[in-house]
Amino acid sequence: MRLLIMGPPGVGKGTMAAYIKKTYNISHISTGELYREAIARMNSLGTLAKGYLDRGELVPDAVTVDLVKETLKKSEYKEGFLLDGFPRTIPQAQALDDILEEKQWKIDVVLNLTADDETIIERITGRRICSNCGALYHTTNIKPAVDDICDNCGAALFQRPDDNRETVARRLKIYREQTEPLLEYYRRRGLLRDVDAEGTVADNIKEVEKALGGFNDND
Ligand code: AMP
Repeated sequence: MRLLIMGPPGVGKGTMAAYIKKTYNISHISTGELYREAIARMNSLGTLAKGYLDRGELVPDAVTVDLVKETLKKSEYKEGFLLDGFPRTIPQAQALDDILEEKQWKIDVVLNLTADDETIIERITGRRICSNCGALYHTTNIKPAVDDICDNCGAALFQRPDDNRETVARRLKIYREQTEPLLEYYRRRGLLRDVDAEGTVADNIKEVEKALGGFNDND
């Protein structure tokens, strides 16, 4: 199964991706996560990407396409994957088509998560992440048992530096201008499945299941 998960920043893609990964035993590729790892390692990719992430801007297409191309060469993705945060522009989508065509792979479903801007801002500013295992929390919606400590591994939680109001506004604007047109790109091909992600995590999982329902590898 090859899935894309799309939607504005903070809509809950990461939380739903973690659910899908676990439930369907599918590999998860998040370009944002790959960039954050590169920044933490302070390697050349991280040095290049840091300013863009800090400002809430997109890393140039050529760099991101290369990153995805290299990542998809790994054997663990042969059986399938859930791509989260890519593509984010029309040129990225076209490049993904080329990468997949070369491998004779096809996208099965594109999930499109939606929620109001107010919900998104509230989710994004309250988001907390485990510094060790990457598990996602929220200050009111997904609270850990002990404040600021991960339930899974006991490590400290942190807030992404780009999860502040000012940067979120820029990220949302970029999403509307550059990423939203992609929905039509996939809708025209009959791949897009809308997911109302306005509810609780449990509600949203039900919506994701509905959107994936009836799907099988022979579709
Ligand atoms: P995310 O974790 O998906 O919210 O991504 C965090 C940041 O990583 C974005 O604000 C961008 O700076 C960068 N990024 C992630 N994916 C892409 C992409 N497909 N194209 C360009 N920049 C990206």
